[in-house]
Amino acid sequence: MTAIPLENLTTAEKVQLTLWMNDIAAIAGNSVSGRVRNREPRLRVHPIPQEGDGHAAWTTGEWINISRDLLAADPKLRRYLIAHELGHDEGWHDAIGFAAAIAVAFGLGTTISLLSLAAIVPSLQSASVTLMGVATIAGRKTMCFEWEADRRGARMTSVQAMTDGIDLVIPLRSPNLRAFYSNKKERLNGLKPSWFSP
Ligand SMILES: [Zn+2]
Repeated sequence: MTAIPLENLTTAEKVQLTLWMNDIAAIAGNSVSGRVRNREPRLRVHPIPQEGDGHAAWTTGEWINISRDLLAADPKLRRYLIAHELGHDEGWHDAIGFAAAIAVAFGLGTTISLLSLAAIVPSLQSASVTLMGVATIAGRKTMCFEWEADRRGARMTSVQAMTDGIDLVIPLRSPNLRAFYSNKKERLNGLKPSWFSP
């Protein structure tokens, strides 16, 4: 997706962009990672892909990306999204996710080679089990990363800031994600044990 050249934003959007940049700098300043803390704030603004399908925020590890509609987001939502994405950056989640994807592809490759060698049923079974195991771990890791990004974000802001933000995110996401977000809130508030130590 191509980013919108910042000079193409409206005057009002340029003001909102400054608010995003200021919050990115302030929140990143609380990061335990020098890489996140010391870099210039980086934000790319993207067109909304389809009508009504906005509210998108993601990170490439170096740049925070948002859909254009989010420029005008409530400050609490803005800070939550920034803290969450910086949490991903701090934890190197994109790099780890990439490595996991390679591992899954490698597992798949191994299974296919074993399939083409055919015959030996027990090793075929064990290869499939290995592949399923790797895929399951990769899938869990993804959900793990979502929680972990919020936990890191809470350290850079506060638990209150993150739970306030989650309350604003919930109505923007599909109903099947509600349980996921309440689960995150419970973990942030220490009602459920963390999967990581800080
Ligand atoms: Zn995330």
